[in-house]
Amino acid sequence: MRNNPFIPFHVPSIGEEEVREVEATLRSGWLTTGPRTAQFEKEFGAYVRAPHAIAVNSCTAGLHVAFAALGIGRGDEVITTPLTFCSTVHTILHVGAKPVMADIGADGNIDPEEIARAITPRTRAIVPVHFGGLPCEMKAIWALARKHGLFVIEDAAHAAGTHYQGRPIGMSEDGEDASDAVAFSFYATKNMTTGEGGMITTPRESLAARMRMLSLHGMNRDAWKRYSERGNWHYEVVDTGFKYNLTDLQSALGIQQLRKLDSFIETRTYYAKIYNQVLAGMEEVELPADAPRSRHAWHLYVLRLNLNMLNIDRGEFIEELRRRGVGSSVHFIPIPLHPYFARMPVAQRPCPRALKLYPRIVSLPLYPAMTEEQVRYVADSVKDILMSHKRDGRVLLHEAG
Ligand SMILES: *Cc1c(COP(=O)(O)O)cnc(C)c1O
Repeated sequence: MRNNPFIPFHVPSIGEEEVREVEATLRSGWLTTGPRTAQFEKEFGAYVRAPHAIAVNSCTAGLHVAFAALGIGRGDEVITTPLTFCSTVHTILHVGAKPVMADIGADGNIDPEEIARAITPRTRAIVPVHFGGLPCEMKAIWALARKHGLFVIEDAAHAAGTHYQGRPIGMSEDGEDASDAVAFSFYATKNMTTGEGGMITTPRESLAARMRMLSLHGMNRDAWKRYSERGNWHYEVVDTGFKYNLTDLQSALGIQQLRKLDSFIETRTYYAKIYNQVLAGMEEVELPADAPRSRHAWHLYVLRLNLNMLNIDRGEFIEELRRRGVGSSVHFIPIPLHPYFARMPVAQRPCPRALKLYPRIVSLPLYPAMTEEQVRYVADSVKDILMSHKRDGRVLLHEAG
């Protein structure tokens, strides 16, 4: 249908700065967790304005370490959203707790009213996910947590650079309401990347120390510290730790990516606006929600198909995009629909809104490595598909007959 190269769903933006920083790390003689990781933690903490930041090798690791450090475990219930990646729920299961689904609201984020309904005497924590980079209603969530004595651990995998009502997600230095821990992802497709990686921030010094210790074998002194102290080799293992540390090779990427994060988000926002403008007023689709008093990071642009106005389903829509040379994806298959989770108690709280939304959602490519021309091509392709697959009266009559 076209001669242009395929537009993939995602391509990371890696520049010469990243290449040089990784090369310098390779030549430095220190590859694993060391000075660059310490620098990355300091700079990321300053960026989100959190007093403590611990680099880990994934957001999944960050969530796991936070739950473990907070003592969440057997007999506890943890409330989260059905519209998330599997690892939000896996990590709850890893510590022996029971995941409880609270359905989404109209914007795709967890609905605070549903959280309130899901709270039982066994509830210990709430894990909101800022879906696609749109901040959750944290004020309502913090109020519930305060009222019921619950921890809040944010899955901010999509939300590096998101602001909630003027404060960066992760911010906890101003004495205002804040979550116990916030876990970010630097997976290759996220707002900024270290290939694989994550960061966990917290306002609490003792919790930070405990998460740091658990993320590195439960050891009380890491290798860089021992080296810095001129080969004082001694350390002790004080807990059941994990191997979740981030290497200096990855932190080298992170240091340079963090400096570009604001400009990445500016580009994402500009491109999201183009999608909005081209598709505005088309009744075959619903455009993604925005948060007027906040900064959406536009990690994802999730289009909602109005299937009753189309003569194709989501799968055929994706196939039509692919035929026009456009990659896309779906975020997410709701947790209760995965066979593994379907067999366990997570599915017991019904999530009709997430299940109803699921067949309608398609994530369009949206990343700073795209050109504006590519964004306009994708938008025009979507429009073209919608126009040529309008369900008209004749089709309805035919189906009725
Ligand atoms: C990507 C993602 C994760 C996991 O992040 P990793 O860094 O790959 O562990 C967790 N939650 C959500 C919502 C995600 O999209």
